[in-house]
Amino acid sequence: MDNTSLKAAILVVSDTASQDPSSDRVSDALTASFSAEGSTWQRPVTKIVPDSVLDIQRAICDWTDGPNWVNLILVSGGTGFAVKDNTPEAVSPLIHRHAPGLVHGMLAASLKVTPFAMMSRPVGGVRDKSLILTLPGSPKGAKENLDAVIKLLPHACTQAAGANSRLLHAGGMKKLETDAGVSSTTPHQAERSHHHHHHDHHHHHGHSHGHGHVVPRAHTSPSERPQSNDPQAGPNRRYRSSPYPMLSVDEALKEISERTPNPVVVEVPVTTSLVGSVIAEDVYAGEAVPAYRASIVDGYAVIAPDSPTSGPSTKGVFPVASITHANPGGILSPLEPGTIARITTGAPLPPNANAVVMVEDTVLASATPDGNEEATVEILTGDIKPNENVREPGSDVALGSRILQKGDLITSVGGEIGLLAATGTKSVKVYRKPRVGVLSTGDELVEHNDPAALYGGQIRDSNRPSLLSCLASWGFPTIDLGIARDTPVGELERSLRDALRGVGRAAASVDVIITTGGVSMGELDLLKPTIERSLGGTIHFGRVSMKPGKPTTFATIPFKPSITDGTQQERETKLIFSLPGNPASALVTLNLFVLPSLHKMMGMAEKQTGGVGVAPPLGLPLVSVCLAHAFPRDAKRTDYHRAVVTVGRADGRLYASSTGLEGVGQRSSRVGSLATANALLVIAPGTGKQEQGSLVEALMMGPVVAGP
Ligand code: AMP
Ligand code: MG
Repeated sequence: MDNTSLKAAILVVSDTASQDPSSDRVSDALTASFSAEGSTWQRPVTKIVPDSVLDIQRAICDWTDGPNWVNLILVSGGTGFAVKDNTPEAVSPLIHRHAPGLVHGMLAASLKVTPFAMMSRPVGGVRDKSLILTLPGSPKGAKENLDAVIKLLPHACTQAAGANSRLLHAGGMKKLETDAGVSSTTPHQAERSHHHHHHDHHHHHGHSHGHGHVVPRAHTSPSERPQSNDPQAGPNRRYRSSPYPMLSVDEALKEISERTPNPVVVEVPVTTSLVGSVIAEDVYAGEAVPAYRASIVDGYAVIAPDSPTSGPSTKGVFPVASITHANPGGILSPLEPGTIARITTGAPLPPNANAVVMVEDTVLASATPDGNEEATVEILTGDIKPNENVREPGSDVALGSRILQKGDLITSVGGEIGLLAATGTKSVKVYRKPRVGVLSTGDELVEHNDPAALYGGQIRDSNRPSLLSCLASWGFPTIDLGIARDTPVGELERSLRDALRGVGRAAASVDVIITTGGVSMGELDLLKPTIERSLGGTIHFGRVSMKPGKPTTFATIPFKPSITDGTQQERETKLIFSLPGNPASALVTLNLFVLPSLHKMMGMAEKQTGGVGVAPPLGLPLVSVCLAHAFPRDAKRTDYHRAVVTVGRADGRLYASSTGLEGVGQRSSRVGSLATANALLVIAPGTGKQEQGSLVEALMMGPVVAGP
């Protein structure tokens, strides 16, 4: 807080609040108005006194007469006509110079809201160097009155303070006057956020259109953007409602998709670790398959005539001249006319041979003298045609033909690895899979395998193991970033920095950080402030209209790699998904929001349409299922209901039943609701129930199971 900021004090006059300070709502309401003015005002000090003239006067004089005088004192409450209302009587005698203009301004503003403003008896003026104003006792009325004059108060206060060197030396006056001067044209701070599209930005555009060079310009001013809590400010200064606009799930997904960096191409050797990667560049066969003329069957290589009359028939008894197995075999001697060669499946045909008779079409005619080998074999058919039972070179895969296409996924079952191996492909270009770090946050967390018994509010960290295993099952390389405690301050920031740089616990720098916890509205919920204030990141959304998962937060952090070893291309934007701490919420949002982004980064959207197959949709597959029973609906938010989807044995239809309906069943903290679930049902908001038998969409997390 710089010392050019003005000091304010709030005096709440109320018998009730002085008995029970937690019932006071005025201090927060007024404090919010001051913080909306940026650094003009220091955080106000507050005091609560009963409706007593002496108490009121003592409190005011403490703030005006001593060395710790303040610039402004707001006295809220006790200004009505009730017998106990005596604030004006307490304040008036203390005022040296009255300020009826400010009083008039506040009254005029109140009268626009309600004629009952006439029932208020406000006073205002200067005592020594301090300005004192009385306000109504209701939080709403008090705030309206203050907001009516707040732009002018810096000016009034600095003038009242006179030649106060503390203010003048720092150039405070000039700044404050400027602030007050623009107050009639600047949109009021309290009206920021959701309306920013309506603001007129055209008054300065004249030079930027039609000249070919576009200067990047933000469409909101910093004061219009939502900002996270200042964690230094303490619990009574935190926001009471989230400053982030609520996005729909589709809007959130769109935002994620737009911010997710394009996939990065790497060249890697052909090994089994390629499975799950997407091909980044078409692959052509460097070798033909097969590379030689091979037999398709076990039998005898022969010289077959083109037609029954053009050469000797294959029918008859022939000496067995040589034997060829499916082995490298060296150089084969040519087959002499009138002889045959025994051959095994896949073995090369000897030169001159042009067909193979299968062993079933032959009988042994005579054995060698030692009785171990065939001397002659009788072929029972004369119908063998040239090329029969022969695979020509390149007949499976022609040399130079395209074997894989950009965007193809290398599956574990689809034989893509086999094709690459068969054609002797040594390396391929693929998209690098994003590396994902998983961090848990919270003072209450202990390692799941900590041998010590839990005490107090401790809980075991279940999110990290479950998220890490889910990510691993999707085939992404993961890094366990451990637990970052909420206190001491700075631990979270250090963990995030280490993960981005690949130092400390993080063995390599990550592309995506997933955190859980710390995104609710508690004063220890540090994620948003740390991302915004310490890491220079941008929060793209902080709330989503869904259940569970409302506080899901998505941010990007610009990143300049410190070490470039030239081999690994670093992404310049890192993504942070800050998922809610509740275990079910964390897993639902991981499936819903993180997976599509990881899919995009691993190249799943790169398949060219029009080729073989189409680009698969990113994220979990979406199918329609029939509800096996009625499902509850949320009035406002889309519900992602954990369910088991089975396929009916008799009718082949997909049926969904809940993993838990009653009471705690679908509560977002309930880990068990996910243990058996293979689907998330998308239940649209509405009244009443989603009827049994109706069709709803389901995101499939796992394979469909056989029904009864
Ligand atoms: P938070 O978002 O930090 O307020 O956390 C919301 C709830 O989720 C609290 O009850 C936390 O204790 C719980 N929680 C947070 N992180 C984890 C975790 N890693 N494992 C299990 N529960 C957690
Ligand atoms: Mg927490």
